[in-house]
Amino acid sequence: MHFISTKGQANPVSFMEAMSRGLAPDGGLYVPDEMPLLPQKFWKSLPDTSLQEIGYKIARPFLQNEINPAALQKIIDDALNFKVPLVQITERMYVLELFHGPTLAFKDFGARFMARMFSRQLKNQEQEITILVATSGDTGSAVAHGFLGVPGVNVCLLYPAGKVSKLQEKQMATLGRNIKALRVEGTFDDCQRMVKQAFSDPELSKDIRLSSANSINIARLLPQSFYYVYGLAQMQERTDITPYFTVPSGNFGNLTAGLWALKMGMQAEHFIAATNRNDVVPKYLHGRSYQPRASRSTISNAMDVGDPSNFSRIQHLFDYSDEAIRKAIWGQSFTDDETRACIRRLFSETGYILDPHTAVGVLAAEKFHNETGETNPGIVLSTAHPAKFGDVVEPLINQPVPMPERLKRCMDKKILSSPIEADFAALKSFLMENY
Ligand SMILES: *Cc1c(COP(=O)(O)O)cnc(C)c1O
Repeated sequence: MHFISTKGQANPVSFMEAMSRGLAPDGGLYVPDEMPLLPQKFWKSLPDTSLQEIGYKIARPFLQNEINPAALQKIIDDALNFKVPLVQITERMYVLELFHGPTLAFKDFGARFMARMFSRQLKNQEQEITILVATSGDTGSAVAHGFLGVPGVNVCLLYPAGKVSKLQEKQMATLGRNIKALRVEGTFDDCQRMVKQAFSDPELSKDIRLSSANSINIARLLPQSFYYVYGLAQMQERTDITPYFTVPSGNFGNLTAGLWALKMGMQAEHFIAATNRNDVVPKYLHGRSYQPRASRSTISNAMDVGDPSNFSRIQHLFDYSDEAIRKAIWGQSFTDDETRACIRRLFSETGYILDPHTAVGVLAAEKFHNETGETNPGIVLSTAHPAKFGDVVEPLINQPVPMPERLKRCMDKKILSSPIEADFAALKSFLMENY
């Protein structure tokens, strides 16, 4: 299989090359030149198939000539070593809990898989690689944990001082080992600018092998298609009715991965894009033109995206047919007040605690039922553990959110990040000294 750019002006490359490059040289995003259709035998035997078996079957055609079967299975077993339960919360609504990884959010899937693929690619090379990441919170911790202890790879994270939550800072700046964190005296935009400058600095790229790990990377997307199929497998153990999938969305990587699974032959009644007030895609799905704009901040802040980068992958997947996209995906946006009310109501009715991102998904699933008369059950992807957003959730349910052990442990650890000015020269000398 080859990977081509959504902009169509770059040479086709292998998976490993697309992963190393991140963005295609023409500025587009890498996509497979052709979606593999998995055999009926696979789709018929889903019940009682494990996440790791499903992952292998899906990933295999993407990596056919690049990695041997045993090595691929090992990477998947090792990356996805946590549970992904499907929990029924109302008669027709199920939640697929994607937050049992080390940073308690679904970004662990992509980050852990990508880290192991990077490490494998580096195995026969002398020079270490340094992954440089600017983060406003969640991506940084998933990448840091994903690469922790992975041989041949260093990670350098930049985050804006005082502008990430205490918990996020604890999750990304206490790790040590091959992870270095810099707290920048500035904003997230400053962090991003400094990282961009580093990539284009000729002197740095001569001495240090820099790479990126941002959310558009193909190696982060692929493993996200595994859990859709695993969610369906668990559903099929309970009922023959085909579910629809609801996806709390920001950059739309998660939804794109689901659509990949659909194109590979997965049964799905429908896909639902659930957003907060950053509603560019729902507006488009309701018939307006696609109009990116500046992001607005909300309580589901990991979805505060005004110009979703993966939308171009969705357009490419449907051959740029607005009609086909609008037929496959239903979309809806919700306000913070609606989100808070949903968390409160669902807790009082069922005892289940939603994080703000998942709550947006639940609202969309409910609205989809009410507006379309859909009677099939729905699977809402739960993208984060509610304890990560305790400050929002606890006042709504009037009690503490039980904190998982690993989160408690990291709250006691010491912050190891170094302060740095919001200035490229400071970053450059730090990198020169440390790598
Ligand atoms: C990143 C993130 C999202 C949005 O996912 P996309 O793939 O960018 O659409 C939703 N919820 C949480 C908790 C996230 O961290």
